[in-house]
Order: sequence, then C-alpha cells, then structure tokens
Amino acid sequence: MSSGSFPRPNLRTLLLLFTLLASLATLLNDLYVTYRVQREILVHNVLEANRAYAAKVALSIGQSLGADLDRLNYSAKVLGQDFPSQQRRNDEVRRLVEQDQSFNTVVIADAQGEVLASYPPVLGLKGQTLRSKEPLKRRQGMISPAFSSLAGNLIVFVSQPIWNSQGEYLGLVGGTIYLRDANALNEVVSKHFQKDSDVYLVDGQRHLLFHPDPDRVGQVVGANAAVDAVLGAESGALQVVDEGTQMLAGFAAVAHSGWGVISQQPMSIPASALRELMTRVVLGIIPMSLLGIVLIWWAASRISRPLSRLADLAERMENIQGIRAVHAWYFEAWRIRRAMLMGALLTQERIGTLNHQALSDPLTGLANRRALDDCLRDWQLLGKPFAVISMDLDHFKQVNDNFGHDAGDKVLTAFARLLRQNCRDRDIACRVGGEEFILLLPLTSLADATDVAQRIRRSMAALDVPPVGCTTLSLGVVCWSPEDDIEATFKEADACLYRAKQAGRNKVVAAVHEHL
Ligand code: GH3
Ligand code: MG
Ligand code: MG
Repeated sequence: MSSGSFPRPNLRTLLLLFTLLASLATLLNDLYVTYRVQREILVHNVLEANRAYAAKVALSIGQSLGADLDRLNYSAKVLGQDFPSQQRRNDEVRRLVEQDQSFNTVVIADAQGEVLASYPPVLGLKGQTLRSKEPLKRRQGMISPAFSSLAGNLIVFVSQPIWNSQGEYLGLVGGTIYLRDANALNEVVSKHFQKDSDVYLVDGQRHLLFHPDPDRVGQVVGANAAVDAVLGAESGALQVVDEGTQMLAGFAAVAHSGWGVISQQPMSIPASALRELMTRVVLGIIPMSLLGIVLIWWAASRISRPLSRLADLAERMENIQGIRAVHAWYFEAWRIRRAMLMGALLTQERIGTLNHQALSDPLTGLANRRALDDCLRDWQLLGKPFAVISMDLDHFKQVNDNFGHDAGDKVLTAFARLLRQNCRDRDIACRVGGEEFILLLPLTSLADATDVAQRIRRSMAALDVPPVGCTTLSLGVVCWSPEDDIEATFKEADACLYRAKQAGRNKVVAAVHEHL
C-alpha cells in the first residue's frame, strides 16, 4: 500500500532512532561532565603540588640565606674587634669561602667601599671600590638583587656591617654568589625534583636568579601574574601565561630576601593526561554501549513487531486467523488486534449475508440462477461431469388461480424442501424461474439421475400441501461431460421436459444418449 508521497519511517526505526539519540545525548553529557570534573581535579592537584613545592624550595632557600647572613654576622663581629689587622681580614675571607660552598667570593670593604681583602685572591679586587653602595648606606645585613660584578659575573651580594666596640661603622664583610656557577643556592633549587615542573627563582627586580635554562639566568621576567604575586610577598597558586604558554604555577616568597620561587607546569601536561583518561573512559564505555544498542534494537523490534504485523494484516482483513495469531503482548497492540478482529468478523458476516442474498432465492432458499451459473462455470473449468434434471410444476397457473398466489408460494416452498430432502449434499438445487427448477448432480450417470428424478416425481405427487392438495411436476434428465456444449445440454434438458409435458405431465423423460 502506498504510504504517501515520501517514505515514512516505520515504528521500529523511530524507536531505534529515538532511543539511540537519547542514549547518545546522555553519553555525551556524561563524558562532558566527567571531562569537566576530571579537568578541575587535575588542574587543582597540579596547582596544589606546585604551590607546596614552591613553598618547600622557598623555605630551603630562606634557611640557606639565613645561615649565610649568620655566618657573615659572626665574621663581622670577629673583624670588629680587630679590624686593622690585614692578617685577620685575609684569614676571615679565606675561611668564609673555604668552609662551605655558600659563597663564590668574599670581600671586606671599609666604610667608603674600598676593598680591603678578598678571596680568592686571583680576582685582584683588593683596592677597588664596591659597585653597589646600597649596603654601605643601609649599614645592616642585606641580600642584594642580582647585578653584574666588577669582574663581569652575575651575582647577588650578601653582606653584614662591621661595627667596632664603640659602635663606629667600619665597613662590611660580604659574600657573593655567582648565579651561573655551582654554589649552595643553586644546589638548593636544583636538587629538588618536581616531576614535569620547572622551578625558577626571581629577585625583587624580576631578575631570574635561577632557571632550568641557564641562558635565562639574569634575564628580567616579563608580565607574569605569579611573579607579580610572589614579589608582593604572597604565596599560592595560579593559572598564568608565561611567554605565550598556559602554565599552572605555584609560588612562594623567600624570607630575608624579597625573592620568590615559582614552580610551574605547562597546562599541556595535565591536558594530555586528561586526554588519555578520557580515551580510557570512552574505550571502557564502548562495549557496554554496543550491548546497549543491541538491546535497544531487540526491544524496538519486539515493540514494533505486533503493530507491524497488524498493519500488514489490516490490508487484508479477511485473514482472521493471521490477526488472531499476532502476539499482542502489550496493551495498545492488544486493543488494536481486538478492534481489527471485531472489524474483520463483522465484515465477514456482512459479506456472508450479502453473498447468501446474492446467490439464493428469497422464497425457497434454494440457489438462484446466478449461483447456478457460477457453479456451472467452476465445474466446466474443472471438467467435472454432471447430470441435469430440469423441472416444471404442472398446471401451476391453475393452482394460483384456484387457491391464490400465497397458496402457490406454499407449494413452491414445500417442493423446495422436498427437493432438498431428495438430493445429496454435493448436488445443487436451483429455482431458475417462477415454478421452474434445476437440479445439478455432479459425477452422476443418466440412469442414477433418472432414478432421482423419478423419486422426486413420486414424492411430489404424493405431497399434500393444504389447501392445494397434491401437485405434480414434469422432469427432463440429461448428462453433461467436458466435451459437450453446455448450452446444447440445457436445451436438450428443456426438450426432455417439454416431451414429458407432451406425454401427459407427471413424467420423467431422459435424454436418449449418455456420455458417462
Ligand atoms: P404447464 O407448466 O403444466 O404447462 O402449465 P402451467 O400452468 O404451469 O404453465 P406455466 O408454466 O406457463 O405457468 C407458470 C405459472 O406459475 C404462471 C404463474 O402464475 C405461476 N407463477 C410463476 N411464479 C410464481 C410465484 O412465484 N408464485 C406463485 N404462486 N406462482 C407463480
Ligand atoms: Mg413454467
Ligand atoms: Mg408449469
């Protein structure tokens, strides 16, 4: 059946599509939420790890610088007691350099900044003036920002003032740390190990004092929110952009110095871990999703099958057995099946009644001329031989005239009943005119048919139908076989009947020849 100008999707496809889309939407939503939550957790963890690490490194550097200041303070006190002694100065600078790895060089300068002693001696600093006057002015223990030394090294300078017992300012003792050389400070920063993170150290003027890339040591750090925060003496963690790269940075201020430590990791590292995680999640989901699709397909088929079967059967409502056989396992399908069954049964009943009306004679209930024609056509097609008994009631006009039309009808009805009683189930009895009847007897010889005709004749002659009494009839008997012309056969039957009338009525006349 045409379903319109465009192909309409069937229920199963719709159910499949709908459930698949709904599942897909749920799945995507789940994946998105998982991605968001996992990303937040990862970023938080990385920030927290870097914050803790930066704090730890800053603490170590602070302790190391504190120890340096203490050592210099001790020397300052020693020197304050015996400042004029060159021997003392030389011993002290040498001791400070050699006792540990804290300082690359140590100098002692007078109140004007002239270097009185230095170690190692190869540098030839003695007699020169200190580059930075800041420690001389401040006259307190201090750690300088990074700067280039007289000898061209990038250094920080840690110093303590020297006072004599009268409280006069004599000068200072200071140690330099070469930022590009091995020293205790570099060791503190680099000996820590934070996987995937870079650690760097900045001074108060944004100079890089330590960086994993040695070429960057001494450079000034550009715009960077973590550096801004750490130089404001804050500690914490931030997402920042460093030289165009998204970074997750933890930072902490270093005590005594105004410096800051930053530990940072490119965002791409947790992002790739996240991608890996999401790939694993998706791979984990796929088998269950495939199983889900199979289940959905199965359920969609189960739900749509009864409706689809009923829709097929609705196109040929006569298939009541088919409609009954549909497994309508849910309510709507059950209701449709019931409605279709009721409709089909009603239609069949109507068609049956109509068929009966169309093919039977209303007065006698016998088959009519049309039914006779249908039957003859079928038997002809099948090549099924048969006998014909043609019958006409005798003087029936008189019956009507004497007893009335209704009495005539009673005789006709009584004869029809008699006819039925005298023939077999497979025989066809027809009323083909007012009081003219034909009996078709399939697979019956002329002799047998003649016997039947005689029996009918006798029975009718003996049948009393009040108020008419007994009525007779005349009968003609012939046989048809496939090689015969059917019209000629019926003409011959009429001729036999005519001869029976001519012979005085209440007679049976059979055809002279027989084909069977
Ligand atoms: P015969 O056949 O013996 O030569 O004489 P007949 O009087 O029977 O003659 P014919 O067969 O020509 O007459 C048929 C009569 O049957 C005419 C009509 O009054 C009557 N008849 C036809 N149909 C009906 C019917 O349905 N009911 C009744 N009561 N009578 C009918
Ligand atoms: Mg007649
Ligand atoms: Mg008649």
